[in-house]
Amino acid sequence: MGFLSHSFWSKNIFRLENVILTSIPLHLSDWPFINSQGTQWISSTTRLYLSRNPPMSIREAIEAREKSLLAASACASRNSRGRVNAESSCPVRTCFQVDRDRILHSKAFRRLKHKTQVFLSPEGDHYRTRLTHTLEVAQIARTVARALQLNEDLTEAIALGHDLGHTPFGHAGERVLDELLGDGFHHVLQSLRVVDLLENDGAGLNLTWEVRNGILRHSKGRGALRGADPDNLPATLEGQVVRLADVAAYVSHDLDDAIRAGLIAADQVPQALRRELGARHGERINTMVTDLIAASRSSQTVTICFSTATAAAVTALRDWLFHAVYQAEPVVAEFHKASHILRELFHYFSAHPAALAAYGGGHVSGDPAEVAVADFLAGMTDRYAMNLYQQLFLPQPWKVL
Ligand code: MG
Repeated sequence: MGFLSHSFWSKNIFRLENVILTSIPLHLSDWPFINSQGTQWISSTTRLYLSRNPPMSIREAIEAREKSLLAASACASRNSRGRVNAESSCPVRTCFQVDRDRILHSKAFRRLKHKTQVFLSPEGDHYRTRLTHTLEVAQIARTVARALQLNEDLTEAIALGHDLGHTPFGHAGERVLDELLGDGFHHVLQSLRVVDLLENDGAGLNLTWEVRNGILRHSKGRGALRGADPDNLPATLEGQVVRLADVAAYVSHDLDDAIRAGLIAADQVPQALRRELGARHGERINTMVTDLIAASRSSQTVTICFSTATAAAVTALRDWLFHAVYQAEPVVAEFHKASHILRELFHYFSAHPAALAAYGGGHVSGDPAEVAVADFLAGMTDRYAMNLYQQLFLPQPWKVL
């Protein structure tokens, strides 16, 4: 009896310590109330733990922590609308942590490292690719989410997944597929298709409704940064954070890369924009992030927004980049060549379905054959598409010595 009693207590004290350790906010300096409310909350969590039979899992402890620390308008993991195919919950991670990990471990995510952001297949190691863009978006979005007491895990999952459907050669690749497909092509819909149907050997990632909605609604194109139609906004504030973190990231890093590439000089950027947003990458990110946090906190409606002045400056910088960088002759000239490659590959694989299968292309039941070709092409990295073009259309040197 004595032995059993000792075993019971050591087991439960271990669990109790575990709950307390996993319950303490990770960044104590961010939570100045830890000594008063935090201590009260830890003891209430402990009481909740002790009252549970069987004991609370680590995931349940994290969910209880969310309830105490997140804003009322945040999307708590426990309130997720769930997945298309129901699954049993992970004992350690919330549903949004699970989604983040599924995206991070996907093949489509790894391929982002060799997909164009602005400069096609850059040789210089300091240029952004679609992967580093994604990571910058995720970091900006997490900073904003934490400051606004929103769900950081949901925010991170949406950010990491938002561009999974991007084609090789950036928006030039997207335009070619849009032209060639009967029903058109948009990277946003393709991102959803990747996570729903193409990843995991065609089984999809079975993500939660909130992450899928955030991916689907992240794009603004050249639309308004303030006062967008609510029907087009993400349903969660976390999704809205990613939507604006995306533009904050790309207007600043694309400018930084264009200067690195010698396409523009720093002093060519309109002076008013340098004054409003900052002259350097770090200054611009700091201006946009702090503005996003302050404007969202003081907004009359529950929404994520820039202030009127910063929204106008970001829009003006985005418009300026379109002319000075995205449509600059040296960039467009390379994109013409890249478009030719994708067009030729599209026609080749449309005419040779056996070759499509041999190269690993799949076919989702019920979809037209051209969609299978587009899935294959959209999944390629820049270098894979260029190598394949070379292999299929250019004479190869005889390699037998
Ligand atoms: Mg993006």
